[in-house]
Amino acid sequence: MTAPISVLIVEDHNLFRTGIRAGCQRDKAIHIAGEAVNGEEAVNKAASLSPDVILMDIAMPVMDGIQSTRLIREKQAKTKIIMLTSQDSDEAIQSAFSSGANGYCLKEIDSTLLCSAIKAVHRGETWLDPSLSRTAKESWTEAAARESGFTKGNSSFSQTLTKTLKVDLRNSEANGAKYAASMYPNRIAPKTFAEKYECMGLLGKGGMSEVYKAKHKLLDKVVAVKFLAKQLSSLESFAARFAQEAIISGKLSHPNIASVSDFGFTDDGSGYLVMEYAEGSTLAEVLAESGKLNETDCLKIFRQLQDALLYSHSKNIIHRDIKPANVILMKNGERNCAVKLVDFGLAKLMTENSPSITLNGEILGSPIYMSPEQCQGLELDQRSDIYSLGCLMYETICGYPPFRGETPMDTFRMHVEDEVPAIPEHFCSEKTRTMIRKCLQKRPEDRYTGMHELEF
Ligand code: AMP
Repeated sequence: MTAPISVLIVEDHNLFRTGIRAGCQRDKAIHIAGEAVNGEEAVNKAASLSPDVILMDIAMPVMDGIQSTRLIREKQAKTKIIMLTSQDSDEAIQSAFSSGANGYCLKEIDSTLLCSAIKAVHRGETWLDPSLSRTAKESWTEAAARESGFTKGNSSFSQTLTKTLKVDLRNSEANGAKYAASMYPNRIAPKTFAEKYECMGLLGKGGMSEVYKAKHKLLDKVVAVKFLAKQLSSLESFAARFAQEAIISGKLSHPNIASVSDFGFTDDGSGYLVMEYAEGSTLAEVLAESGKLNETDCLKIFRQLQDALLYSHSKNIIHRDIKPANVILMKNGERNCAVKLVDFGLAKLMTENSPSITLNGEILGSPIYMSPEQCQGLELDQRSDIYSLGCLMYETICGYPPFRGETPMDTFRMHVEDEVPAIPEHFCSEKTRTMIRKCLQKRPEDRYTGMHELEF
């Protein structure tokens, strides 16, 4: 006889704990190995009990379930974790899977289904509560299609989107809504897609997508293609955000911004975005290798980023995720277009009616480069990008960012409260130091009013 699956229940409410325990104990294949009442205790008990599966609440005192999952995942790759929570937003689901969870269930799930979920993750599957299936709202789909630059000559955009999402929904209903929604294992991009693109290899990973090098077979042209994981493509807010990235990027045409030429969904439901291929290394890679850059090289990069942002701000688009990993230094770039800014995935139109599709900042934004107003969830304008650029310039000149806390929360607090550490005099000229300091002012009104004011 096989040994029962050992389960650790992590839940701060006594009543819920009792209910979960009673529900699981009905199934002989499951053994409750222990209980914990907060995330910290969960980390300790996970280490001492080595359970097969942990049922983890999200909102708990001392340490929440996301942080706890992250810590457990670092040490115990084999232990499976199911979030068992009352939070049903896409943001919460994204945070859970990003932190390493294998499954996501709502607290009202019936105990038979919960036991099925435990067995499924134990077998190595990923589980999402059936009641969390989503479909796109027609209104949003139509709005996206109307706004999209790709509708011209391609009226199938809306149909494709609707069709894809419906297909996904039907499949999910048929198989009990099990999604392999974890983003950590490489999703395998299709070898060929949309009949004309052929994948060549992985270029990099973002928070919820992967970027591949690919070839347009008919044009014999190399492109970069960003894929949104199929399982996320079927969640409304992710598909909407991805479409928004396509719509926004499609409006931009500038030598220092990787242009976007196509957008759609593959037959199996993954969203894709076709971009100009920027061959080179990201600034993050360059800094990791060389520590910091000399002032002359820095200024060459900053000037081009200034151009890119001056242009996008003139189109009322704020990037909101300026960081070294989104700056590509081109291998064979010409003098004024050796730098490409990529990833308008968090970008937003500064117009009143633009939809605000924002996901959990900790996961999708980059705390080290976030402006104080972004850290506080306040309204943003172009001066937020100026602050982020200030962080990036500081790091490129010094080799370390101005603020880096032990946790994302610490970093947020530092952006809001702490004084910017002085840049050592021998790192760069007084003029550059002054400019970086002005970009990094806490209050937007104390920074430059626009990119045009920065003088390199
Ligand atoms: P993203 O999800 O846009 O942040 O992209 C993740 C990574 O993919 C980046 O850090 C780059 O290494 C790579 N990448 C993104 N866009 C391109 C592009 N247009 N050309 C080449 N590599 C890219």
